[in-house]
Amino acid sequence: MTDAPADAPLDADARRAVKPVICYPNDSLPRPDLALYRAARASARKTGEVLVPPREGRCFEVKAGQFFRISSVEGPQVGDLNLHNLHDLTERFFSGKTRALHGTHVTTGERLWSNLPYLRPMATIIEDTLGWYGIDQYGGSVHDVIGTRCDPYTGNLLAGGHYHHCCHSNLTRALADHTGLPLHEAEMLVHDVLNVFMCTGFTRDTGQYFMKASPVRPGDYLEFFAEIDLLGNLSACPGGDCSSEHSSDTASCHPLLVEIFAPAEGMLGDWPSPSVNGYDRSHGR
Ligand SMILES: [Zn+2]
Repeated sequence: MTDAPADAPLDADARRAVKPVICYPNDSLPRPDLALYRAARASARKTGEVLVPPREGRCFEVKAGQFFRISSVEGPQVGDLNLHNLHDLTERFFSGKTRALHGTHVTTGERLWSNLPYLRPMATIIEDTLGWYGIDQYGGSVHDVIGTRCDPYTGNLLAGGHYHHCCHSNLTRALADHTGLPLHEAEMLVHDVLNVFMCTGFTRDTGQYFMKASPVRPGDYLEFFAEIDLLGNLSACPGGDCSSEHSSDTASCHPLLVEIFAPAEGMLGDWPSPSVNGYDRSHGR
């Protein structure tokens, strides 16, 4: 948007004054039964944990009907989260459609949806200790689905060099290590993330993506209910709290803790893990 704008038409103001329409009114989205999930969570016991070291990624597995919690430990830290169907890694988190359905940032009661042609909830957020943050004076908020993941290709494009601990590379190594896939096959499965704890927005004047120091503090967490069997992959971003820069070893970085919890037998009643999307896939042929 750096070129001078073309001459505006006479009715430019009237065209700009048209009121926006919500693309996907989400009152017809299937609602998660949060009361059921929370009752099940109250009965749950911890079955495992993974500590993600700073500037590294780690995978974890969560069965449908279990819970996983991502916590800040030691110091403010942002995480980049990928989710795959544990049994078919090509079904993965669809950040773009999640954004279209829920908005730029997600919180309690909202869901992480999978890519086409599956388009079903993979996980539901049941607790967010940063839910109080809301939208700040700059238009910033927490846990975004507007960023992609920091990566060495953009770093190379903008500044040259070869930095190997961007979230993209951390997620790639972690997925290769966990699955045994060759590094470059694993890389093709890495996808746009949920930016856990990251505080971001778009500037009002230029529309640019911005970040600012995350409000997260040790003890804060984001907790999910797994709707399907999941392979999670989390990177502790080299940006640390993302207050200044990423794609370097400059920022102060901390680990992130992932904990898995399993509810007591029968607590979910006849809750069904969601099926893949109902569209018949004939595409008019
Ligand atoms: Zn990152």
